[in-house]
Amino acid sequence: MTQINAAEPRHDWTLPQVEALFDLPFMELVYQAASVHRVHFDPSELQLSQLLSVKTGGCAENCGYCSQSAHFKTGLKAEKLMETDEVLARARAARDGGAQRFCMGAAWRELKDRDLPRLAAMIGGVKALGLETCATLGMLTADQAKQLKDAGLDYYNHNLDTGPEYYADVVTTRTYQERLETLSHVRDAGMSTCCGGIVGMGETRRDRASLLHQLATLPVHPDSLPVNALVPVAGTPLG
Ligand code: SF4
Repeated sequence: MTQINAAEPRHDWTLPQVEALFDLPFMELVYQAASVHRVHFDPSELQLSQLLSVKTGGCAENCGYCSQSAHFKTGLKAEKLMETDEVLARARAARDGGAQRFCMGAAWRELKDRDLPRLAAMIGGVKALGLETCATLGMLTADQAKQLKDAGLDYYNHNLDTGPEYYADVVTTRTYQERLETLSHVRDAGMSTCCGGIVGMGETRRDRASLLHQLATLPVHPDSLPVNALVPVAGTPLG
């Protein structure tokens, strides 16, 4: 039976080894996963995070699941980048409600340098509230990643969504390689990565294993790994 080694994180997983995990009896998989988890984390501890869309809709990308893409008619009204004070008021409310990490998301293909000063003010302000900071702003250059780090950003979210073989069925306006490059800039700048994907988009079990294989063989594993279930949105290709 395939065993997950709890002692040391591995980066040399093969795709067949990941697929073998999918063949484990479910409760055996839960047992092994929980055993690994408690070697590295307090098993009774949870972290609470809250996400705010600081710039909604009108995105140039065509992710087939997303209500915010300008390519699809979903009835969503595009909005401008929020003012810093408004974001900080929302972050304060999140903290007072028990959140420990606050994530700011913008529906952009890539970050524009002209928006960096306002984002830096938001990040610095959220950090000053005693929250961990996270942002998801699209593709970054190496220099932008450094500037975000200098502003106090702890985490950058950039999902791979699915395995590379199925990727073009989900989005065609960017490549898998571009995703990996932004993740590399984030790591090089010294930030933690938040990177995962979505299940239920029509992918096969092999595609799911392939996504996990990509994540497991990154030079540094994601520090947070969101696994989303598709919420079908009318008007999108996956709706
Ligand atoms: S990049 Fe983000 S906001 Fe833009 S279409 Fe894709 S998921 Fe939606």
